[in-house]
Amino acid sequence: MVEIEEALNRICSQKPEIKKTTQTVTQSLGYCLAEDIYAPFPLPPFDNSAMDGYALSGQVESYQIIGEVAAGSNASIQLKVGQAVRIFTGARIPEGAESVLMQEKSRVENGLLYPLEIPIPGKHIRRQGEELRTNSCVFESGHLLNAASLGILSSFGINHIDVWQKPRIHILVTGNELIQAGEVRQPGQIYESNRTTLKAALERSGFLSLRYSHVHDDLESIRQEISKILEENDLLLISGGISVGDYDFVQKALQENQVQEVFYKVNQKPGKPLWFGKKEDCFVFGLPGNPASSLTCFYMFVWPLLQMMQGANNAGLPKIKAKLQHSFEIKSERPVFLKAQLNSDGVHILDGQGSSMIYSLAHANALVFLNKEAQFNPGDEVECYLIP
Ligand code: AMP
Ligand code: MG
Repeated sequence: MVEIEEALNRICSQKPEIKKTTQTVTQSLGYCLAEDIYAPFPLPPFDNSAMDGYALSGQVESYQIIGEVAAGSNASIQLKVGQAVRIFTGARIPEGAESVLMQEKSRVENGLLYPLEIPIPGKHIRRQGEELRTNSCVFESGHLLNAASLGILSSFGINHIDVWQKPRIHILVTGNELIQAGEVRQPGQIYESNRTTLKAALERSGFLSLRYSHVHDDLESIRQEISKILEENDLLLISGGISVGDYDFVQKALQENQVQEVFYKVNQKPGKPLWFGKKEDCFVFGLPGNPASSLTCFYMFVWPLLQMMQGANNAGLPKIKAKLQHSFEIKSERPVFLKAQLNSDGVHILDGQGSSMIYSLAHANALVFLNKEAQFNPGDEVECYLIP
């Protein structure tokens, strides 16, 4: 058995083989860049108006309005002191204009513009390059592309980028007792849920290359299935069968497939019987079957590896400190991850902390980590991992 920190260190010291691919910007949400991106030109590309109003030259009492510039217009107008043009947001600032007066701060009478406030040079003008200068670094390789990232790449007219390929993932569910929704439940059977949960957690983060299978608790079936999966995938998540029961064959089946163990069992609750290993380029997690253990282990241990496997700069869930909203006594000798709800007033540990209880996890947005037996009081600061 290893400590949580040691388990995470062993995961984070892996060196997954990752490959580049070129794809369109619009298809790259949730991918990580496999190249540095430098600004090919300044942003904004030219001085432009931040308001609908008037571009002015000089500071005088009234201005002669000599024309109009709309967004997209390439009219070339030269303003002299005492002249103004009607201008709209995003339109190029004419030569000679020093400031923009908001429409709401102006009065027009007989073709003359009277400012209702003193025009200050530079006001309401977005300067060329004020967001990014030519050749400045926009993104480093490994940047996880969000919606705004795709936006900025598009504003440079970039169509194609190099990103890291995502891993091919297989979810293998084990258990004689498990049936699928739609099947008629016999006594002793339960509806399978880990596949849906893990699949959703993966898809939500853009891991879409997923396959799935279910085998019964039979050493030979599990061994054969694992052997097939290892050939064609980069990551195998096995649910259940990794504990010490008479029908838990996963560890043996992994050994028989020469999957090398990196660790087995972590000093934590939930999720003690977590197994992690590797064969050639395929990583394997044996996740405990209890639904809350399975998802907690996914967030805490699979997630950092996934980030590395998709070429991201950061690994691990974001972590913050928050004030406990109530008193809480922890009786476990093992460090615990507790399903919790975090809001602006602090964090609230939910009822229903059992390893099998996923209902509370469905209402949680954080896992509180407590690593020693103790009595906590309202206002005590605790560590919280933010879960998506
Ligand atoms: P195991 O890790 O296989 O010993 O399973 C531990 C507990 O989790 C048992 O109560 C199982 O019935 C339950 N369980 C295992 N796999 C699943 C699954 N895929 N969906 C829901 N419950 C499961
Ligand atoms: Mg089982």
